[in-house]
Amino acid sequence: ESFEALPLAAPLHRALRDKNYVTPSPIQAQAIPHLLEGRDLLGSAQTGTGKTAAFALPILHHLNEKNHRLMKGRMRALVLTPTRELAVQVAKSFDDYGKHLRLNTALIYGGVSAGPQIRAMKRGVDVLIATPGRLLDLYEQGHFEFDAVEHFVLDEADRMLDMGFINDIRRIVSKLPRERQSLFFSATFSNTVTRLAEEILSNPVEVRI
Ligand code: AMP
Repeated sequence: ESFEALPLAAPLHRALRDKNYVTPSPIQAQAIPHLLEGRDLLGSAQTGTGKTAAFALPILHHLNEKNHRLMKGRMRALVLTPTRELAVQVAKSFDDYGKHLRLNTALIYGGVSAGPQIRAMKRGVDVLIATPGRLLDLYEQGHFEFDAVEHFVLDEADRMLDMGFINDIRRIVSKLPRERQSLFFSATFSNTVTRLAEEILSNPVEVRI
């Protein structure tokens, strides 16, 4: 099985060739066809399995399919990560895989000044990768809306709960459109993680690695 067999847009295949990726990893082979069909996904996967490409490629494919005008302060895909380091890594993956597409990526995380993050949102962003606390702060200050989100990813959900983000996550999810594609990744599944997944996902495909 090769990437060429997956019905991804040609600019994504080009980006994969640029990176010398030939064979999808198991999570990519299992998840990408369902995600291209628009299904929700519950993924039990660790970092290092290729899960970032598993969600970034289908999201970029969908965003690229619809003609659109860049909307100021209204992202179309939202990825939540527990830490700044993971947010930066995920953003780099979106930029790498999306390098031949005209889509904008932005980052929001705490511990640095908010000015540049706010200005990037005002210019218009397709994919926003964020940590929950700073994201909610800037949302409550009125810098952007969540009403255009078509794709939502919760990455490393178990770590987010360990870090005390459960209420922030629930608040953010409550602002998202009901009709959306949601992806939920966690390495472990406690009762709390499972309950949160049930709140967020609708009839998900389950992928275990
Ligand atoms: P991730 O689990 O998403 O953090 O990916 C782990 C590492 O594997 C990253 O450095 C990716 O660039 C790389 N990678 C992901 N998918 C593939 C693939 N299909 N072939 C080769 N390398 C890959």
